[in-house]
Amino acid sequence: MKLNSPLQVYKFLPQINCAECGDATCMAFAAHLIDRSKKLEDCPPILKDEYKKKYLELQTLLAPEIREIIIGKGERARKIGGDDVLYRHQLTFFDPTAFAYDVWDTMPENELVERVNKISNFRKFYVGKFLTVDMVAVRCVSGDAAKFAGAVKKVSEITKLPLILCSLDPAVLKSGLEVVKDKNPLIYAATEKNWGEVSELALNYKVPVVLFSQDLDKLKSLALTFREMGIKDLVLDPGTYPQGKQLKETFEKFIKLRRAGIKEAQKDIAYPIMAVPLNAWAVYKDAVTASYWETVLASVFTVRYGDIMILHSLEPYAMLPEVHLRDTIYTDPRTPVKVAPGVNEVGTPTKDSPVIVTTNFALTYYTVESDLSSNKINCYLAAVDTDGIGVEASVAGGQLTAAKIKDNFQKAGFDFKEKTSHNTIVLPGLAARLQGDVEDATGLRVMIGPPDSGRIPGWMEKNWPPKPK
Ligand code: SF4
Repeated sequence: MKLNSPLQVYKFLPQINCAECGDATCMAFAAHLIDRSKKLEDCPPILKDEYKKKYLELQTLLAPEIREIIIGKGERARKIGGDDVLYRHQLTFFDPTAFAYDVWDTMPENELVERVNKISNFRKFYVGKFLTVDMVAVRCVSGDAAKFAGAVKKVSEITKLPLILCSLDPAVLKSGLEVVKDKNPLIYAATEKNWGEVSELALNYKVPVVLFSQDLDKLKSLALTFREMGIKDLVLDPGTYPQGKQLKETFEKFIKLRRAGIKEAQKDIAYPIMAVPLNAWAVYKDAVTASYWETVLASVFTVRYGDIMILHSLEPYAMLPEVHLRDTIYTDPRTPVKVAPGVNEVGTPTKDSPVIVTTNFALTYYTVESDLSSNKINCYLAAVDTDGIGVEASVAGGQLTAAKIKDNFQKAGFDFKEKTSHNTIVLPGLAARLQGDVEDATGLRVMIGPPDSGRIPGWMEKNWPPKPK
């Protein structure tokens, strides 16, 4: 039985309200355990002998339905799996799909270095953070264990990203493992043919391992065998077919696996699932078409239920939709995405620059900020605390008010007389109805800007600087 309410968790906690966890009460801490914003070990008393039994029980009862697995070591180590629900709106999805991009052991060294650097350094700024990718999958194409080990060594010298070692030949996998045995790589893959030797590698090197079979019964049987051997860090690959009827079957297998793990509580098969959109390159020979279908597959299996995937295309038109979709799917629907309230400078504002108001909903804030900075409009941009709600909804819902706007400038220590020559603020067009209230509350002149920030440059041409009254 999985615990899913603070009250259920509270019964297992020490119930002494000592606040050592940073929460005033055990009940408040229980709520953090449910939403995974804190971990059990943040409660020092429960680690004492007198509570050991409850600690161990809670560990089991709080464990996610899908096993959480760590790949790699250090700051770039990546967790995968860890989900409790089939649909994001039921709670949230945890541990975003890990994207691994391939390199191979027959690449000329300069190309290998360039490609690994491109993977490691990929960054795209989006809604206040950088979207990145997660791993390098080193594929053995040569069939030569020494050559593979050389490629793994080179890659591990260049990047801190976790590695996936890809070969169906246990001797090749072993040669790669020898090079990166301290870095907790994922090995790919154990099959019906090689499982005996690959399981020995997973046991000896204590690394997570992918099990591959297109037959779900055989996949389950492999998982059971590995588990009985004491290997619990497993990833399931039911095969990814890039087109036609077999793609439909692949999709159905992903659904079956995840439903079995979450809905039917089949612990034997409740592991992260791997998709391999890279297989599109085996079918489509033209690079743009292959990239296109690879991105389509990545999108499908980000939504349903790929926890990790191996990809090939490093073209922006492939990577950008992949990382954006993943970010959207794994955003926590319980918490609006917010920026810190305050007053920020865009460019290098002077006393004659406008002071523009928006809300602290991250998507709104960064859209406005981007429209201003890309049009080289130097100004002050106020992010009013509306609990992360956009302008129109927060005006209607009472989160954006004249008092809140006044309070925002006061808390930021923004003195209009000192910072501006015009004593004026610009409200978003969608907040026009607040104009009179804001004038009364602040004593400032209030101008009404356009309803969307894309039109600010045109609005500025006509309206700024403000004409004397
Ligand atoms: S540290 Fe533990 S015992 Fe103390 S208040 Fe927090 S949850 Fe309760």
